[in-house]
Amino acid sequence: MTQITLDVVSKSAAQGGGLAEPQTIDPEKLKEAIMTYKVGSILNVGAHGFDRQAWFDIISSIQNMSSQNSRLKIPVLYGIDAIHGVTYTNGATLFPQQIGMAATFNPDLIFKAGEISAYETRASYIPWNFSPVLDLGMNPLWPRIYETFGEDPYLAKTMGSAIIKGYQGKGNSIDKFHVSSCMKHYIGYSYPKSGKDRTPAWMPERYLREYFLPTFEEALKSGSKTLMVNSGEINGIPVHASKFLLTHLLKEELGFQGLVVSDWEDIKALVYRHRIAANFKEAEEMAINAGIDMSMVPFDYSFSKDLIQSVKEGKVPMSRIDDAVRRILRVKYELDLWKNPIGNPNDFPEFASAAHTQMALKTAEESLILLKNQNNLLPLNTGTKILVTGPTANTMRSLDGGWSYTWQGDRSDEFAKSKNTILGGLQALGGNNVQYVKGAEFDRLADVDSAVSVAKHSDVIILCLGELSYTETPGNINDIRLPYAQLELARKMEATGKPVVLILAEGRPRVFHEVESGTQAIILGLLLGNEGGDALAKAIYGQISPSGKLPITYPKYVNTLLNYNHKTAEELQSQFFAGYDPEFEFGFGLSYSSFSYSNLQLSDTTLSPLGSITVKVDLKNTGNREAMEVAELFTSNLFSSITPDTKRLRKFEKVDLQPGESKTITFTLKKSDLTFIGVDNKPTLETGNFRLLVGDQKATFTYYAGPKKPVVLDRF
Ligand code: BGC
Repeated sequence: MTQITLDVVSKSAAQGGGLAEPQTIDPEKLKEAIMTYKVGSILNVGAHGFDRQAWFDIISSIQNMSSQNSRLKIPVLYGIDAIHGVTYTNGATLFPQQIGMAATFNPDLIFKAGEISAYETRASYIPWNFSPVLDLGMNPLWPRIYETFGEDPYLAKTMGSAIIKGYQGKGNSIDKFHVSSCMKHYIGYSYPKSGKDRTPAWMPERYLREYFLPTFEEALKSGSKTLMVNSGEINGIPVHASKFLLTHLLKEELGFQGLVVSDWEDIKALVYRHRIAANFKEAEEMAINAGIDMSMVPFDYSFSKDLIQSVKEGKVPMSRIDDAVRRILRVKYELDLWKNPIGNPNDFPEFASAAHTQMALKTAEESLILLKNQNNLLPLNTGTKILVTGPTANTMRSLDGGWSYTWQGDRSDEFAKSKNTILGGLQALGGNNVQYVKGAEFDRLADVDSAVSVAKHSDVIILCLGELSYTETPGNINDIRLPYAQLELARKMEATGKPVVLILAEGRPRVFHEVESGTQAIILGLLLGNEGGDALAKAIYGQISPSGKLPITYPKYVNTLLNYNHKTAEELQSQFFAGYDPEFEFGFGLSYSSFSYSNLQLSDTTLSPLGSITVKVDLKNTGNREAMEVAELFTSNLFSSITPDTKRLRKFEKVDLQPGESKTITFTLKKSDLTFIGVDNKPTLETGNFRLLVGDQKATFTYYAGPKKPVVLDRF
């Protein structure tokens, strides 16, 4: 039940503190971990990632120690954050982060990204991936919003289920090319009131079930085998100590049979952060009794020492230990770790292959969101003289984000130097017509005057703004606006009178409204991964047409951060009440082509509890180039006993259409697609009328909960 970090069993530096470089296993320390303390799991890397050979050496040492020397020869379960490809294996394929994956609105692609990530994780001899993040990205300030699939429960659960199936493969057992997924961070982690990481959330149980539970429920149905717990607290109760959330809701009500692991040092945090326990032993008793099966301790052996004592004292029942151990062993068994504890180096010829890179490029391409394109300024032709400027133009950090080679992703320029930044991608296609002046650092003006003078001799300015890499607490911000220096650079570029194409390369929607009107075109790249520079260049020069859609609402002002699925009462109602007023709406995204929707038809205007309605709509590519479009079906419940959300995404489908081509898209709606959490905290649906929206097509239908069709609609 103990999980430690790799550093604990690694060789120390010969002199001074810290670890030896390169990081290698210390056999004596490993022996102590496995033989004396019977450690069941190890995670992570030290300062930065390794190549495959180094991983082979590390994992072999660990598994050989446990299979040859330990009493019961139980293999160790090694876990890693391979959250957008194998983060910590140098040379591996790096996909867009989850927020970028969500922007594709293409679950088939994300399934494949999951398969490739699993293959390359196994090629690194690791069978357990701490992914996906199933927290709902509803608070744009939160520094981990880019690790989510966005703000909508349906989009997030659809993408979550796709990637889990890709990670784990088919069936209950996991073969040598797949890994166990880990749903995280159960539950409510993404909605801290302060917007800062690991700080308290407040939410009624109804909201928890309405917005934050569905992704986990769906992931469970998709067979995810493990789950990591929210480091924060909800309504004053740390989730690591919540028997209600961990045992009653998760294990009993949802029937989760898998392994529940704590997050980093979080049982200890019950003492020093949350202050609900006086000492670590008391904290461990609370957490294990609440339902945690494995403690990510991760630096020492206090957990197992204390827990043995607690069981002897009767403070933790032996039945709880048996249950936890059974859950851990089941995962190891389903991963076939007894027969295949390490993996065969020769089994993975496709590691980082051209085919894998191609899939990462395709995912990045489909992730690009075209937010504005006045007078069809884009695409440009390669003969256009462009100035590329801005702090995100020439760094892989703004494409890869955190969890890339290092925890904070701060060394991506060194480890991914063979990959193209945005500038590199543009130069590869535009050659000598591309000039570069940085203009500004992330939060400080630099050579802005020379950017202005080069701009004057250019046809178009490509202004690259956004963020560098970060995650967790180091990524906390006090202001969601882009830093002053970036806004100032934008103003200076606008003042040149040249057309400005704004490229936003960032992990969360940084507000830029004050310079929006000074731009003619905008493309958003939500942490596109290693192929992002090439994807952006292909879009700018028209080799592809952007087809991504916003998986989050893009705020216009710092204090209007409402999500698209806000309550009806929060709608903009008059000039005096501007509750919801985004820069760009959830689900929005343009194309170089144009599309029209027509002929919306419903098979019935009444939906019964056991019935369904078939919705058909024609989608036509009315432009002159092949392009993809996402048909999004929203519904609005017009009246209900719990105040309804303005609208909710219920279905979507991405289609590829030739110029002039039409396709009829068919969706099926059932009661379960429309339920909400009622006053009794249970899913419900009441007789009443609904509005349905696909593109600009609208219809209404009635849900009737009773046995007969109502004659008079009292709720319309
Ligand atoms: C993060 C988790 C991650 C774990 C192991 C924690 O700090 O919150 O998401 O899986 O570290 O690296």
